[in-house]
Amino acid sequence: MTFTQVYKKLLKHYGRQHWWPAETPFEVMVGAILTQNTAWTNVERAIARLESRSCLTPQAILEAPLSELVECLKPSGYFNLKAQRLRNYCQWYIDAGEFPCLSCINTDALRKQLLAVNGIGPETADDILLYAFERPVFVIDAYTRRIFSRLKLLASDANYEVLRHQFETGLQMDVAVFNEYHALIVRHAKDVCKKRPDCADCCLVHICLFCEE
Ligand code: SF4
Repeated sequence: MTFTQVYKKLLKHYGRQHWWPAETPFEVMVGAILTQNTAWTNVERAIARLESRSCLTPQAILEAPLSELVECLKPSGYFNLKAQRLRNYCQWYIDAGEFPCLSCINTDALRKQLLAVNGIGPETADDILLYAFERPVFVIDAYTRRIFSRLKLLASDANYEVLRHQFETGLQMDVAVFNEYHALIVRHAKDVCKKRPDCADCCLVHICLFCEE
């Protein structure tokens, strides 16, 4: 079994997921920061609050009183921490010249810059690279670890960079495929391959080794 075979089965079963659910690249970036440790529905509520107060630009986020920013972010949880992270990100983003300048930087250098921003870890950086900047970077999250360790394609406790490298070398470096694959992984983990998996309803059951344990 290969990463490509799993991708084809998931795509055939679920269809396209149309990610990332956002209007602009900057909204993707905000969503990537706010989605840390919370469900997407909570992120949507926080983004709607930012939008309703005309706070969905890097300048507006930096200029807003901290109390107002925190109020907007409350639905996303960890709101004090996320307000500070969002401000850190926006300061870096403006200082770096925003999207037009950043989109001219090569992927490795841009990833290094993102990881240097306080509060931006590998998963958030890779969400931003893939879904905002459309770079061929594979996002690894807890869902990826769960599904692919059950499929015996990955070790669940392996280092983030090792897992990312395995996906990126196991697939064609194609932004559209990376985009769709991560979205399908999230869908499959939420719907079927949950903490207690519904293997009887799984489109991967015939290639999965989990049930043989
Ligand atoms: S067969 Fe079960 S463990 Fe394997 S991928 Fe499907 S739901 Fe997950």
